Amino acid sequence: LMQLSIPLNFIGFVYREIRQGLTDMEKMFELLGVEEEVKDHPDARPLAVSSGAIRFEDVRFSYDPEREILKGISFEVPPGKSVAIVGPSGAGKSTISRLLFRFYDVTSGRITIDGQDIAAVRQDSLRAAIGIVPQDTVLFNDTIAYNIRYGRVDAPEDEVRQAAERAQIGPFIAALPEGYETMVGERGLKLSGGEKQRVAIARTLLKAPPILVLDEATSALDTHTEQEIQDALDLVSRNRTTLTIAHRLSTIVAADEIIVLKAGQIVERGSHGELLERGGLYAEMWTMQREASEAEEALRRAREAD
Ligand code: ADP
Ligand code: MG
Repeated sequence: LMQLSIPLNFIGFVYREIRQGLTDMEKMFELLGVEEEVKDHPDARPLAVSSGAIRFEDVRFSYDPEREILKGISFEVPPGKSVAIVGPSGAGKSTISRLLFRFYDVTSGRITIDGQDIAAVRQDSLRAAIGIVPQDTVLFNDTIAYNIRYGRVDAPEDEVRQAAERAQIGPFIAALPEGYETMVGERGLKLSGGEKQRVAIARTLLKAPPILVLDEATSALDTHTEQEIQDALDLVSRNRTTLTIAHRLSTIVAADEIIVLKAGQIVERGSHGELLERGGLYAEMWTMQREASEAEEALRRAREAD
C-alpha cells in the first residue's frame, strides 16, 4: 500500500474529508479503487434487516487513545421510531452517526441492527440499509438525474421525477433549460445549500432505506426554505427508523425520544415536554434558541419596515 505514497496520501486526505462529511463514500472508493480502513470479518454475512431496530450498548470510542470521545453510550431506536441527539458542539453527536455507518469500529460495547452486531456484518449490506441526508451534500459532477438516481441506479425515469417532486425540487429542475440533464457540481451549475439538500432528500426517497440518519444543516436557511425542507424530511422519515442529529431544536419537538449528549455522555433523555419540565441543559438550550430566533425575527421586521 505504500508504493504510491503521494497519490495514496492524497486519497487518505480525501477519505478523511469524506468520512468527516458522511457523504457518498462507497462511490468514492469505487472511483479510487481504494480499500476501506475498516475491514470486513472474513466470515462476515450480509445484514438481514427485518424491522430496523438500532441499539447502542455501552459504546465507548476514541479517535486517539489519549482522549475518549464516547464514554458508555446506550440507547435504542425502536423500529419506525425517531430519536434525536442534541447537545453542544464537540459532544460526540456526529461520531455516533459515523459509528453507526461503521466508518470506525467501537472501542468497546456494541452496536446492533435487528440484533446483529454491525461489526460482524458486511459493510456493503450495512450501508445499503442506511440512508443519510448529510449536513453538506457533495454532488457528483454529473447531471441532476444522475445525482438523484445514485440512490437506486436502476430506478426508472418516472420514479426519479417522482422523488424530486416529493423532495420539493421538481419545479426548480423543470425551470432549468436542460431540466434533469443539467450538469451540476463543481464544474456545472452550482446549487445552493437548500437545493443540494433537496437533491439528497430525493436520492434518499428513491433509495427508500429502512434506516435513516439525518445530520441537520446548521447553516441558516430562510424560514420558508427551512419549512419546505422540513416537510420533505418529515416525509422521508415517516415509518422509518430515524436517528436525527439536531442543531435546531424546533425541528425535533415531535421526536419519540430526545437524547442530550454532553462531553461524550448522555446527561438527559426524554420527550420534548419531559425535558422542558426538567429544566436542565435541554431546557436551557431551548430558551437560548428561542431567544435567538425571536431576535432574528425582530431584526428582519425592523429591516422590512425601513
Ligand atoms: P459533534 O458532532 O457533537 O459536534 P463530533 O462527534 O464531531 O462532535 O466530535 C466529537 C469530538 O471528537 C470533538 O472533540 C472532535 O474534535 C473530535 N473528533 C472528531 N473527529 C475526529 C477525528 N477524525 N480525529 C480526532 N478527533 C476527532
Ligand atoms: Mg457534528
